[in-house]
Amino acid sequence: MSFVVEGNGELQVAALLRELLGSDRFGSWVDGALVEGLGETISLINPATGQPFMAYRDAGEPLVAAAAESACRAQKQWWAMTASQRGRLMWACADQVRAATESLAQLESISAGKPVRDCRVEVAKVAEMFEYYAGWCDKLGGEVIPVPTSHLNYTRHEPYGVVTQITPWNAPVFTAGWQIAPAICAGNGVLLKPSELTPLSSTVLVKLLEEAGIPQGLVNVINGLGQTTGAAAIANPVTKKVVFVGSPRTGGVIATAAAQRVIPCVLELGGKSANIVFDDADIDRAVVGAQAAVFAAAGQSCVSGSRLLVQRSVYDQVVERVASACSKLPVGLPWAESTMIGPINNQVQFDHVSALVKDGVAQGAIVAAGGGKPDIAGGDAGYFYQPTVLANVDNSMRVAQEEIFGPVVSVIPFDDEDDAVAIANDSRFGLAGAVWTRDVGRAHRMAAQVNAGTFWVNSYKAINVMSPFGGFGESGYGRSSGYEGLLEYTQTKSVWVETGKDAAIQFGYSIQ
Ligand code: NAD
Repeated sequence: MSFVVEGNGELQVAALLRELLGSDRFGSWVDGALVEGLGETISLINPATGQPFMAYRDAGEPLVAAAAESACRAQKQWWAMTASQRGRLMWACADQVRAATESLAQLESISAGKPVRDCRVEVAKVAEMFEYYAGWCDKLGGEVIPVPTSHLNYTRHEPYGVVTQITPWNAPVFTAGWQIAPAICAGNGVLLKPSELTPLSSTVLVKLLEEAGIPQGLVNVINGLGQTTGAAAIANPVTKKVVFVGSPRTGGVIATAAAQRVIPCVLELGGKSANIVFDDADIDRAVVGAQAAVFAAAGQSCVSGSRLLVQRSVYDQVVERVASACSKLPVGLPWAESTMIGPINNQVQFDHVSALVKDGVAQGAIVAAGGGKPDIAGGDAGYFYQPTVLANVDNSMRVAQEEIFGPVVSVIPFDDEDDAVAIANDSRFGLAGAVWTRDVGRAHRMAAQVNAGTFWVNSYKAINVMSPFGGFGESGYGRSSGYEGLLEYTQTKSVWVETGKDAAIQFGYSIQ
């Protein structure tokens, strides 16, 4: 499939792919080479212009099978290396990614619709992920357990073999690095199935890793649809674990498919996080934090602070200040340097955001800012949505209960600590949360009581590969990043070595 060369952004994608992939065609990355898929044709749409800019074919089951075979072979080669050798190669991966930061960020920006300044940060974080896990390669030891017999008992953290990773469209290269780095650090091979909407940067990333020296085929990128290519990867007997990052609805389908094969899975799903502002907070900082929590990435972030809970005594003030500040945020074409808020990634998501806002308004919410499509020169047919503040929201409204995944914040009043905790926890999700207060005791009380896998005090969205990340409730289970994320990619073996002199007769059996 060749590129439909239309408009400046699309031309640039073609040039970037030629530079980064060495090809002006696109497909899956299997066993160290670009291979055209065998299934239906998938069109990629530029989120900023609404125009198709290239097409590729769904990988399909036969390519998945080839990728699985390749990952199996390369994993054995990888696991046979010393831990230090693997660590050195992972450091080289980090260097390779850093060297390609600008091109990779441009590619991500144009094809996924993310502001280029955010993409640069995300690519730098991918390099950090490989550095961090490079350091773990030769430190992932087991432990010696002082069992009450004459045995030496020790544990080994062994890889699963090959794992399947399925990722969404909102932070493609970031999520790919986030999962690939711990998986290979632990000694696994990988089948990565990125979102069919944003496959480019993940594919380039894996080529860069191979250029840095990891075995060809250790990580394969099977590009295509979830129901065909993703499902085939989970069904393939080579897959020994599934790590899924995406929507709760698909998470249920994935968990069912994994359960049918009796293989484990990690689910990193959605959220409806509560960002809680008390009247004793530094309100200037809380107003800035509230915007960063929900408008960054146009709200297409799983930890987005889409519910802003504000104590009644400062409610009007906070609504007014967040609304006034967000009306000035630069919304624009993602590849423009000044842009802070780009488009929504796709039409379906744009329609979902619009419908939830309309529903909120119908139930009594008041639009304090935004609420529709902005005028963007060159982006009339793109999926832009204004940064939007909804006031007078009750936590029972759909807009407060469903993940919106767009630049929309619902501001909900509360009376006191107990009320704030009750509202925050009145959600099926539990991904993240935050509190803004000057009272240290209150900060810790809130951190202990809000149901969330990540919680911030006087901050929002601080996330690092060194710290564990994951959900409570329907936001999923299992952990990514940090030491806990690394252990998800290992299975523990307990080894018993008899050291006793008369061990052979210890059970009372005779020698003859
Ligand atoms: P999605 O669930 O629609 O798709 C995610 C991936 O699953 C895609 O690659 C898709 O092709 C694949 N898929 C779909 N059906 C499948 C099937 N039957 N079998 C196998 N694979 C299948 O999610 P999305 O719309 O791409 O992403 C947005 C969602 O991701 C939001 O809910 C967001 O909160 C969530 N997310 C969560 C985290 C986290 O770490 N918790 C991070 C980023 C995004």
